[in-house]
Amino acid sequence: MSDTPVFKRVLLKLSGEGLMGKKQFGLDTEYVDQIASEVVKVHKLGTQICLVIGGGNIFRGISDAAAGIDRTSADHMGMLATVMNALAMQSALERQGVQTRVQSAIPMQSVCEPYIRRRAIRHMEKGRIVIFAAGTGNPFFTTDTAAALRAVEMNCDAILKGTQVDGVYSADPKKDPNAQRYDRLNYKEVLTKDLKVMDAAAITLARENSLPIVVFSMHEPGSFANVVNAQGLFTVIK
Ligand code: UDP
Repeated sequence: MSDTPVFKRVLLKLSGEGLMGKKQFGLDTEYVDQIASEVVKVHKLGTQICLVIGGGNIFRGISDAAAGIDRTSADHMGMLATVMNALAMQSALERQGVQTRVQSAIPMQSVCEPYIRRRAIRHMEKGRIVIFAAGTGNPFFTTDTAAALRAVEMNCDAILKGTQVDGVYSADPKKDPNAQRYDRLNYKEVLTKDLKVMDAAAITLARENSLPIVVFSMHEPGSFANVVNAQGLFTVIK
């Protein structure tokens, strides 16, 4: 592993489901601790890190659980779910000795800071990890789009999307043994092949701002640190 990470500042996007471990719903705190330790490894390399965590492990605005609730209210509930995940991750990171700030796109001052761009950048410069909660703050968006938006605003070198598998495949490799794995893709291919990487709004935002997206498995110990050093298995979209 080289001493100098390839990326100086990255945004790590994790889905809410990535925090469930083997549970069917909610958070597995042991698993959250494991992910936090992977993040701390990268922090120790000197890479500045911000995070966007989804909320799908608790609530999704377009899920069955939301049936009957108007979409805007349901999406507000989904955004609040991301705040819960952000607080859990903050607690796990701070247990491992790394100062962390949560900034919410929906202001809730007694719980966490409101989102303030310059302040978030300053936190990272001071060695703090920043977790962006409540998505974009707007209904009808996803945390993938929030991740692309914040990564652009923070001048990140890349979005690192930690998933269940080691890159982007032509089909779900858990269901289709013939699924082909891609090492590199461009934004247009992702959109035209309708590859399930991030939603189209996120891909478009990344493309317009020449922000690379790196998809890798968050499950392999050390994989996040490897990716930051351009090692191991991943798919680069740029
Ligand atoms: N959400 C929203 N606006 C945003 C981000 C998220 O309304 O900018 C809501 C939406 O209801 C979504 C839920 O929050 O279903 C959880 O986010 P997401 O589905 O992106 O989480 P993930 O799939 O990454 O766990």
